[in-house]
Amino acid sequence: MAYTIDLTGKTAVITGSNSGIGLGIAWELARAGADVVLNSFTDREEDHALAREIAEETGVTARYIKADMSKGDACRQLIADAGRCDILINNAGIQHVAPIPDFPVEKWDAIIAINLSSAFHTTAAALPMMRQAGWGRIINISSAHGLTASPFKSAYIAAKHGIVGLTKTTALETAQEPITANTICPGYVLTPLVEAQIPDTMKEYDMSREDVIKNVMLERQPSKEFATVEQLGGTATFLCSDAAAQITGTAISVDGGWTAL
Ligand code: NAD
Repeated sequence: MAYTIDLTGKTAVITGSNSGIGLGIAWELARAGADVVLNSFTDREEDHALAREIAEETGVTARYIKADMSKGDACRQLIADAGRCDILINNAGIQHVAPIPDFPVEKWDAIIAINLSSAFHTTAAALPMMRQAGWGRIINISSAHGLTASPFKSAYIAAKHGIVGLTKTTALETAQEPITANTICPGYVLTPLVEAQIPDTMKEYDMSREDVIKNVMLERQPSKEFATVEQLGGTATFLCSDAAAQITGTAISVDGGWTAL
């Protein structure tokens, strides 16, 4: 039997998907036929325009639903408002960098809420729907920092390690059902957020764009290349395929060799 990836009839909810990796995953799932629900905490015309563009290009149904992933009730309401959720991508995330004694408590709380607790709430709300539908895929976006650490990113690293653990527990609780739960751990990905940091870093270190990318940003990424949002979308789409039905509880690195070091 040849495995093909056809997600027609499935609905994917992707948290934090009005830019970067979440948007890239939404595009790839839509290209594979899934209806998609985009999300962020804003409610701007351009957020809804992103959903319209996906719908027009791919022919799937695409919607944008505002929900603040720092709030448990809003996370659960997002899944309820989506109406169904066959594929859940927990992607929303923020970062703050500071040594532990100086780390602002409100930043710690926000990072734990958005990067970790939101996935608990959406999973709790989505699992009954997946069980009802008899099929489900949960894909949590962690990071190379879900498997390794760096200084000054305590909250982010705690949350991203936590996501790997939550995914394993989700996989065990669903192991005998047609539902899988996996983590994707990206290395450095060239998202608009990362692109925007390049000019300042060039100035700070008096370096060329290429040197900043290779020697500062990709210092720990042996491939010396960014991962792309399309590659992450492709990995997520593969995890939704029948070929991946026995892949559950894993953390898949898309990091150019970072965690092999
Ligand atoms: P990004 O800033 O483009 O995307 C983050 C998304 O989360 C945005 O859509 C943003 O609107 C959303 N978001 C933030 N706070 C939210 C809230 N309270 N409620 C709802 N949505 C909220 O950055 P990205 O690089 O695409 O990051 C996406 C995910 O990938 C994050 O979890 C990040 O930790 C992870 N990641 C990124 C990289 C990288 O190099 N870019 C590497 C490893 C992991």
